[in-house]
Amino acid sequence: MTRVLFILLLAATVTAQPAFQELVDSNLEQTITDRRWLHTNPELSNQEFNTQTYLRDTILEIPGIELIDGDWGTGLVAILHGKPGPLIAWRADIDGLPITEDTGLPFSSINDGVMHACGHDIHMSVALGAMRVLSDIRDELPGSILWIFQPAEETGAGAFQMIEAGVFDDGRLPECVLAFHDHPTFNTGETGSCSGWSTANVDAVKITVHGKGGHGAYPHKSVDPVTIAAQIVLGLNSIVARQIDVNNHAVISVGKINGGTKSNIIPDKVIMEATIRTHDEKTRNEIQERIRTTCLGIASAAGAPEPEFEFFNGTPGGYNNPELVAQCREVFARVLGPENDQTYPPGMGGEDFSRFGQVVPGFQFRLGVAPEGKDMTLHSPNFHADEKSVGIGMRVVSELLFDQLSRR
Ligand SMILES: [Zn+2]
Ligand SMILES: [Zn+2]
Repeated sequence: MTRVLFILLLAATVTAQPAFQELVDSNLEQTITDRRWLHTNPELSNQEFNTQTYLRDTILEIPGIELIDGDWGTGLVAILHGKPGPLIAWRADIDGLPITEDTGLPFSSINDGVMHACGHDIHMSVALGAMRVLSDIRDELPGSILWIFQPAEETGAGAFQMIEAGVFDDGRLPECVLAFHDHPTFNTGETGSCSGWSTANVDAVKITVHGKGGHGAYPHKSVDPVTIAAQIVLGLNSIVARQIDVNNHAVISVGKINGGTKSNIIPDKVIMEATIRTHDEKTRNEIQERIRTTCLGIASAAGAPEPEFEFFNGTPGGYNNPELVAQCREVFARVLGPENDQTYPPGMGGEDFSRFGQVVPGFQFRLGVAPEGKDMTLHSPNFHADEKSVGIGMRVVSELLFDQLSRR
């Protein structure tokens, strides 16, 4: 009897899985049209006006989707209503970059000096495609999905703007938030996952080193801020190497030094700027303190006034919730094959998806968009995502969202 019940239950479970590939196939052509239009019409951060109009018009044609009014700037928020059940969120970023496209694609950018060089056209179109697939089966969908089309990822401002504007307010707090970034480090048909910290706190510091100006021939009558700045560069480089636990990732890079006017004049001051990348909050705070004490010590040893510091805390580190990652990887392996469910190590780049993940458990994976053997990087004039990734993305995203709702 138990065995019969088990078989019946198993049969019910198997038949409950919608025919995702057929649904993807029937919605693919329209979604490729979206992708090409979006690729042709890239717009810069917080200026995505035509993009927003296109997304709005497109979404209004998809049954079962409600557009949510709000102060989203050039962003857009919508809910696909399924059966009564949990709410989860999907995020797609929508901005392009100030790069002149050089891909030779027939649907290349028509906007001078602006390009979807980070592949956000793939993010948007796959989201629209997955929306269509899930809209087709909304009567079976075990919950609802909040779709966040976020502007200004490239400036690190957009996610913060959406949260401040209340994207998660008024009963819209999701149980988790998911997203992908298309990525040429993975081939088309692969996904990449990184459990735990995956992106960094993107912080910066501006240090004004004060000295006492004078003639370059008589340095003993001056306090030379150029020499102090040089020592500070080496001192800062030693912080990560000698003072931070190697298990806690950190990077300091001095990217800009400005001072002086002429070879034989010792200037009054030198201004230096550095990027500071960390993962956890403790290291983030600790490293700022170490920078301060290192600079103060070096300046003091040279008999210089105290340097001034301006710290800028930017996009926070992205933490991929390990439980969510494990669940999603089951879907990747099932849909794409276990060999295509890849992983990647934590990086020190930034992504403001992390802001959503600070509110609810989040996971951003990578969707492979490199045709086999192609060497490409994001943010380059010849970056072009393999268009096959659109259909694959639709399949992965729609199954992933369905699966997440089913688990809750
Ligand atoms: Zn980018
Ligand atoms: Zn991007």
